[in-house]
Amino acid sequence: MLKGIAASAGAAVAPLYHLEEPDLSVTRESGLDPAAQHQRYDQAAAQAIGELDALYEKARATDENVAQVFDIHRMMLEDPDLIDGIDALLDQGFNAEYAVRETADGLAAMFKAMEGDEYMQARAADVMDVGNRLIRVLKGIPDTAEFPDEPVIVAAVDLLPSQTVRLDKDKVAGFVTKLGSSTSHSVILARTLGIPCIVGMGEDYDKLPQSGLAAIDGSTGEVVPHPDEASQREFRRRREVFLADQAALEAYKDRKAVTKSGHRVLVCANIGGLDDIDAVIARGGGGVGLFRSEFVYLNSDSFPAEEAQFQIYKEVLARLAPRPVVVRTLDLGSDKQAPYFGIEGEENPAMGYRAIRICLKRPDIFRTQLRALLRASVYGKLNIMFPMITHVEQVLEIKTILAQVRQELDKEGVPYSQEVEYGIMIETPAAAVMADVLAKEVDFFSIGTNDLTQYTLAADRMNANISELFDSGHPAILRLIERTARAAHDAGIWVGICGESAANTALTAFYMSVGIDELSVSPASIPAVKRAVIECD
Ligand code: PEP
Ligand code: MG
Repeated sequence: MLKGIAASAGAAVAPLYHLEEPDLSVTRESGLDPAAQHQRYDQAAAQAIGELDALYEKARATDENVAQVFDIHRMMLEDPDLIDGIDALLDQGFNAEYAVRETADGLAAMFKAMEGDEYMQARAADVMDVGNRLIRVLKGIPDTAEFPDEPVIVAAVDLLPSQTVRLDKDKVAGFVTKLGSSTSHSVILARTLGIPCIVGMGEDYDKLPQSGLAAIDGSTGEVVPHPDEASQREFRRRREVFLADQAALEAYKDRKAVTKSGHRVLVCANIGGLDDIDAVIARGGGGVGLFRSEFVYLNSDSFPAEEAQFQIYKEVLARLAPRPVVVRTLDLGSDKQAPYFGIEGEENPAMGYRAIRICLKRPDIFRTQLRALLRASVYGKLNIMFPMITHVEQVLEIKTILAQVRQELDKEGVPYSQEVEYGIMIETPAAAVMADVLAKEVDFFSIGTNDLTQYTLAADRMNANISELFDSGHPAILRLIERTARAAHDAGIWVGICGESAANTALTAFYMSVGIDELSVSPASIPAVKRAVIECD
């Protein structure tokens, strides 16, 4: 039995099919006529854009989220960073293939260097995908993958999003890859398409046979080459159970999440940007419980201006209205770094200069975001949330700044909603222990179990060596959640959970027992969480 990271649930038994990569190796040629190379590049870029448009249209018919990946790739093709880099090398007389490879590699390396930031690391794969497309076109290799007629388990060292979507779903029983993280676009696509997927097999990948039957389980990460009769039966049974469960879940996505004893829970979604909104609506989200606004900053090369931020917040609120949207103010630092913030390397970044600590030291940055948020508040139902609170004084300081910002807007005659609720994340042990005091100062709490777990159990959430200690179901965490919920309700405010363990249905009954009012999870998990709530006594 081989193992990888369980990335997309479901089981399959089918022949292995190793995806043959076209030869996209590139040689470096110099002293060429820049005009001719520019022309070759321009033609290739135009063809690549045409291909991406066609892929976008094809994907859009079945799934908007899938289609958006091609939209992102198209935007990358038009990105000045990419174009300027390529142009500079063409001007120097290099061949177009080399110019593309150098520039794409450079950009991907930059994304990859954002260590610990899985989102940006996943963007490295997108840049490489775009670069490979250009090189394939330049080398005159057609955009077709010869594919067997039988359903197969596709094996690939790394699977690019464009490869994932082009494969006929009826002919792909599953994916296994050597590399990849569970937040890469390919995995998101696999989940959206409902294809079982195991990534990051590492050395185990090299033990896969070239052909023959394999059995996989994307819920456990198990890969069995040449399964015997009994294993085949077992994995086929798992597949039937999974498919029956998926079909049953459909019925839950538009239901209200109410326990048998009548406790109503708002099941919301965590999002990182505008691209995720369609999925929130499609999966029956009651709103957004966590918009990680730092992605607005990470997607920018310099401090995003008030107007640019306003446009994003406005669109999120308007598209989701009347559903509530909790926007968390900037939570940069630690694993999420934007170079233009100029934050120096720290010994313990998770316990360092981050999130609200930056905002209170840089009120100029903070005010800009608050102004943009309040201006957007008239377009929907906005709630604002502040991360990494440890001291009551921080909340008092935030309230003073908020009052000043509102006064400023009043003076300018700029409208904003009076219905905005102000809350804090409970993601440090100090905040959980002081919840009764903090509850008197805010309108809501949202428990961030990711950080609460890492700080309470002294277990770095990024460290794979101690991942077995990182347990959001540890009694210490459950006690802190219980304490926080009680403090919230004693003060008459609502309390949600937006860390990853909000989607752990083994804990749903516990959350209900302490009266959690809102659960915010990845859009794909919404129906399963609703069902768990509805089935709860
Ligand atoms: C958390 O810490 O649980 C949380 C939701 O925030 P993030 O994962 O963005 O740190
Ligand atoms: Mg956090």
